[in-house]
Amino acid sequence: MMAYGSLYGKLSALAQNELDDCHAAMIRISRALFQRMIDHAKQVWPTECCGLLAGKDGVVTRIYPLENREGSRVSYQADPEQQFRAFQEIEDLGLDLLAIYHSHPDTESYPSKVDREKAFYSEVLHIIISLKDGADQVRAFRIPRGRKIIEERLEIF
Ligand SMILES: [Zn+2]
Repeated sequence: MMAYGSLYGKLSALAQNELDDCHAAMIRISRALFQRMIDHAKQVWPTECCGLLAGKDGVVTRIYPLENREGSRVSYQADPEQQFRAFQEIEDLGLDLLAIYHSHPDTESYPSKVDREKAFYSEVLHIIISLKDGADQVRAFRIPRGRKIIEERLEIF
């Protein structure tokens, strides 16, 4: 019984991991929320914007634009109080944090060295909005600690 119990535990842990991978692997966002994210990036240009996307089963239902305390065009630090309030609301609503987004005013939509160093939440997606040369290019990545960056699909509906 012990053996069965621990095997069962291991199997459900595996299944849970698989489920988490599924959740992280693809994210779906409505055209309207996607546009709000881009508008936020343009509003605070030429500094980087940052914010959170929350939802359920990989579908974004809420956007939390946060203030970039660094006011920099090459890095961001979300306002801790706003971030705390957002996390609180996400939890209260029973939602999951699906992605952290930020913009790159002058560079490509690919994680920078700083982004890789500061990727504390390896289970959430990092969405990067590039406004380089006036175009908006949006890509999503998973940045697992000490492992290769994985690009993920962002589906707009
Ligand atoms: Zn970045």
